[in-house]
Amino acid sequence: MIDGYGRDINYLRLSVTDLCNLKCCYCMPAKGIAKKEHSQILRLETFERIAREAVGLGFTKIRVTGGEPLVRRGILELIKGIASLKKQGLKELTLTTNGVLLSKYAEDLKRAGLTRVNISLDSLDPVKYKEITRGGDLQKVLEGIKAAQEAKLFPLKLNVVLVEGFNDDEIETFVNLTLENELDVRFIELMPLGEASAWDRGHFLPNSEVLARVPNLIPLPFKGHGSVARMYKLPNSKGKVGLISPLSSHFCNYCNRIRITADGKLKPCLHSDVELDIRDYALNNLGKFLEDGINAKPNKHSIRTSGYIPIARNMNEIGG
Ligand code: SAM
Ligand code: SF4
Repeated sequence: MIDGYGRDINYLRLSVTDLCNLKCCYCMPAKGIAKKEHSQILRLETFERIAREAVGLGFTKIRVTGGEPLVRRGILELIKGIASLKKQGLKELTLTTNGVLLSKYAEDLKRAGLTRVNISLDSLDPVKYKEITRGGDLQKVLEGIKAAQEAKLFPLKLNVVLVEGFNDDEIETFVNLTLENELDVRFIELMPLGEASAWDRGHFLPNSEVLARVPNLIPLPFKGHGSVARMYKLPNSKGKVGLISPLSSHFCNYCNRIRITADGKLKPCLHSDVELDIRDYALNNLGKFLEDGINAKPNKHSIRTSGYIPIARNMNEIGG
């Protein structure tokens, strides 16, 4: 469906839970979050219904995210249900995960119809990984990556949030993973929202730093609409390197997405507190819910303007 600024909105992100088995410093509060009442969280059937309406409106890509989507009970059934929409025009069904439970689920996810997976990993050093995730076990994620490769959830993408003074010294190590492995590494600029909104500006590193540290990265043609990453590769590498730079060069012109939160709100823009509540719509009229959300998309976000106010929600509620 075309929005008011001529963009084809065809990508839906479903945050199926705000709960997580990690507490990344930039995403979750140290004390964790209160578990919401059952009634406050959308049922998986409702997510499937939204997905069906979206595909009916011409959406071709759906991503399941969280919180950590693999901690939500019934996740495989949801994946199976959404994957069945491939017959109606859905082209890609993907999942973003921290990878901790992936060794358990990769094979079943593939069988349920998942196309591919993005795995978030900010350090390859077990001590630093434990620090940024407040207790995570790197070994589990590495096992999850291996399981995803064995299950052929390709192309596999590793998402690395760059934090100055924490993992900028690992840029080359992450880039070099693409030499021998069939995976893409994507560096994401830390965004000043939720927990990270109060962080010292010194931690926010522009992605140009990646190019400064690895000057032999070769730029690849930009794919345009719907692409948030600028792609590069090392000479003779198997995988690619993506730079996702919401801060240093915003990609609103190419934005093709809307987001649904676990508590039933539609976010037309990640960087705005404007939300539509599913409870204002009849369950048999969710097409209208999606259409209103698409029509509410702003031209661009205001994150680099002086009047910008960080959004209130943490990323675990929105799904990235
Ligand atoms: N738990 C899953 C995971 O970590 O992949 C899915 C949800 S998580 C909120 C989705 C993505 O958002 C992760 O790659 C995470 O690193 C990223 N993220 C969270 N807070 C962020 C922030 N303030 N700036 C940039 N990326 C952020
Ligand atoms: Fe959990 Fe993902 Fe947030 Fe880390 S980034 S706390 S894994 S939701």
